[in-house]
Amino acid sequence: MNSLILEKIGSLNYQKIPIPAVGSGEILLNVTHCAVCRTDAKMWKMGQRDLVVPKILGHEICGYETDGRKRFVVWPGKACGTCVQCKQGTENLCEMMEITGFHKNGGFAEYVAVPKSSLIPISDALPGNIAVMAEPLACAINALERINVTAGSDVLIYGAGPAGLLMALAVKEKNANPFIIEINPDKLKISKKFQDETGIKAAKEFNRVKFEFAINAASSVDTFLNGLKRLKSGGGFCLFSGFTDSGSIPAALINEIHYRQLKVAGAYGCTRGQIKEAVEILTKQKNKVVFLIEEHISLEQIPSVLPKVLSGAVLKFVAEL
Ligand SMILES: [Zn+2]
Ligand SMILES: [Zn+2]
Repeated sequence: MNSLILEKIGSLNYQKIPIPAVGSGEILLNVTHCAVCRTDAKMWKMGQRDLVVPKILGHEICGYETDGRKRFVVWPGKACGTCVQCKQGTENLCEMMEITGFHKNGGFAEYVAVPKSSLIPISDALPGNIAVMAEPLACAINALERINVTAGSDVLIYGAGPAGLLMALAVKEKNANPFIIEINPDKLKISKKFQDETGIKAAKEFNRVKFEFAINAASSVDTFLNGLKRLKSGGGFCLFSGFTDSGSIPAALINEIHYRQLKVAGAYGCTRGQIKEAVEILTKQKNKVVFLIEEHISLEQIPSVLPKVLSGAVLKFVAEL
C-alpha cells in the first residue's frame, strides 16, 4: 500500500509498504480521507511527547471496513478501560494510552489497523471530507467541558486557525457566544467565508473587555497572560494549544487566579463520546464546515503542505485516498 512514513524528525517519505497486520481486537480500515492537523506538522518539524518514530502520522481519519463497507471515523486512542482515568470517563488520559498516529501507525496510508472499539459509525449523510473534522471538533468539545462553558456565556478564543474556528463552532452549539481574536490579518481573511456562513465573529480585537471563559487555540504564552486579565471573576481559562514560546508569568497575574477565583484547566485529546457528539454537529453543519477546507490533496502532496500548515495561515488540508 502507499504510505507516508516519518522516518525521523524532519524526514517524511512516500513509500510502498505491506498492508498492516491486524492485531487482536483490531480491524483493517480502508482510509478514504485523512485531514492534516497542525500537530502532524509540529511532529514532522520538532517531534511531540507521545510520538515514537518511525511512524505513519495522521489521526483525523475516515474510512470503511474492508469487508462490511460500513463507514467510520476513528477515535485515535486505545484505552485500557480499567484504570482510574478510564473509569471516571477521561479515557483520553488512560494510563496505558496508545494514540493512533502518535504511538501507533495512523491514517496517512491506504489502510490502517485500529481497535474495533475506536470506530465511530457515520451515516451516508456525512461526506468523508467533512467527517475527518470529527476528531478536532471533539477536542474542542473536550476543552469546553473542562471549563464547563455554559449557555449564554461569552467565550474568548485566541487564534482563527482551523482549531480556533472549530472551537467557535462548538461554542455556538452550546448556545454560548464565541469571540475569536486573531492578530494575523491574512488568517482573518481566509476564514471570511466560514465567518459569514456561521455568524462567528473573528477580529484583531474586541471592545468587550471581560469574558466568562477564554481558550487558547494559538501557541503563545501571551494568550494566557491576556486571557487571565480579561476573565470575569470566577471565570475559566482552558489551555488547549501547547505553548511553543517561554514567556514568564508575573506573580501578580498568578494571584489574579487566587483573588478572583479563576479556574485554569488543561485539555488534551477527546473521548469517544465527544467524537459522537462532533459527528452529530458535523452532519447538521456540513454545508458551513465545508468552508474550513483549504484544499483536497493526495497522500503524496502532504509533505509539501506541512510548512504552510505549520505557519498556521491556511485552513484545513484534506487528503483523499
Ligand atoms: Zn489533530
Ligand atoms: Zn485506562
